[in-house]
Amino acid sequence: MKTNNQKERKGYFGDFGGQYVPETLMAPLQELEKAYLKLSNDKSFKKELAGWLTNFVGRPTPLYFANQLTNKIGGAKIYLKREDLTHTGAHKINNALGQALLAKHMGKKRLIAETGAGQHGVATATVAAALGMECVVYMGTVDIERQQPNVQRMELLGATVMSVSAGSKTLKDAINEAIRDWVTNINSSHYLIGSVLGPHPYPTIVRDFQKIIGEEARRQIKEQANKLPDYLVACVGGGSNSIGLFFDFLNEKNIKIIGVEAGGFGIKSNKHAARFAGGRPGILHGTLSYVLQDKYGQITETHSISAGLDYPSIGPEHANLQQTKRVEYTHVTDEEALKAFMLLAETEGIIPALESSHAVAYAIKLAKKLPKDKIIIVNLSGRGDKDLAQAIEHIKKMKL
Ligand SMILES: *Cc1c(COP(=O)(O)O)cnc(C)c1O
Repeated sequence: MKTNNQKERKGYFGDFGGQYVPETLMAPLQELEKAYLKLSNDKSFKKELAGWLTNFVGRPTPLYFANQLTNKIGGAKIYLKREDLTHTGAHKINNALGQALLAKHMGKKRLIAETGAGQHGVATATVAAALGMECVVYMGTVDIERQQPNVQRMELLGATVMSVSAGSKTLKDAINEAIRDWVTNINSSHYLIGSVLGPHPYPTIVRDFQKIIGEEARRQIKEQANKLPDYLVACVGGGSNSIGLFFDFLNEKNIKIIGVEAGGFGIKSNKHAARFAGGRPGILHGTLSYVLQDKYGQITETHSISAGLDYPSIGPEHANLQQTKRVEYTHVTDEEALKAFMLLAETEGIIPALESSHAVAYAIKLAKKLPKDKIIIVNLSGRGDKDLAQAIEHIKKMKL
C-alpha cells in the first residue's frame, strides 16, 4: 500500500501507526490487507464502488461558494465541500460503503461495528441493509441511553444493537466487545472501523475510501475559480473527513492545510479533545499515535460538545503530518463552534454538524485576516439535524 511517505516500515506513517495487537488478530489483518491490495486495483471493483457512490451515496457532493458568509466576514472566499448532502448526512458513509463492499467480495456475510454517538453505527447499518448483509453494532449502555434516536435507526435498518455493560459502558468497552466478536467469527465477519484509526491496514483503507472528497474538490474548484485553493480546513476527530479532503493536495506545497481539533472548554480546563495540544505519543486501539493520557499512560477523559470529535486518540497519519509540519493542527472551543453553527445557518441556510462547525469557526477566523482573492475550502463533514436539541440547549445556557 503506497502512502505519501512510505520510505519506512510497512504500516507506518513516519514514526506512527503499526499493528499493536494480540497475535490472534494478525491473521485476519493480513487477510484484509491482501484482499484490499487486490481489490483496490481491480477495475470491476472500482466500477462497482463508483456506481454505489453515485447512485446510493449521491456523489459527487457539491462544492458551494458561501457568498453571503464571505461578504459578512469581508476576507478570503469560503467554499464548502458539502459532505452533509450525502445519504445519511455525513462523510462516514463513504468509508462504510467501501469497506462493506470489500467485505462482501471477501465472502463475508456479516459486518461488526462499534459506535459511541451512533453515527458510525447508522452508516454501517445503512450499507449492510443496502448490500443485504447482516450487521451487529456494539454500543455501551450509557451511549444507548444517550443516543436513542440512532439506536432506533439502526434497529429499523435491520441491525442488531448489542449493549455493552462492562467498564465505563461507553465506546472503549464497545470496541473490546467488537474485537472479541471478530476474533470468534473471523470467517463470516468483517470488522468495520469508522475512522482512520486502529492497526494497519485500517488507517490506509479508510483514508483511501475518503480521499474522493479531495479529488472531487480539486476538480470543482478548478472549474469554479480556475485555480487551486490557498487553504484547506477540516475538523479532526479520528481524522477521516480531514484526511479525505487533504490527501489529494498534500503534494501541493503552496496550499496551507489546517486540521481543527475540539478545544472543549479550553486547553487549560483539561476538558477538551485536542490531542496535539494536550497529548503525547502512545498506543491506543492497536496503533501508535498521539493520545490524551495521564503521567502513568492511562487514557484521560475527553470533552467536546460534538460527539464525533470526542476521542482520546487521532489517526497515525495525522501524527506524522503534524510531526513533519505538512499540516498545522489547531483547536476551537465549544463556544466558538456554536457561534459558527448559528452564523452558517443564518447566512447560508445550512445547519452544519457540531463537528463541522469547528472547521467553519476556524475558517471564519482565518478568512478575516486574508485578502479577498484567497480561497479557503472547508469540509462540511455533516449536517446538524442530529445536534439540534443539544445545540439549542447550549446556545440558551451560554446566552449566545
Ligand atoms: C464522526 C464525524 C466526524 C469525526 O470523524 P473523523 O473521522 O475525524 O472525520 C466529523 N464530522 C461528522 C459530521 C461526523 O459524523
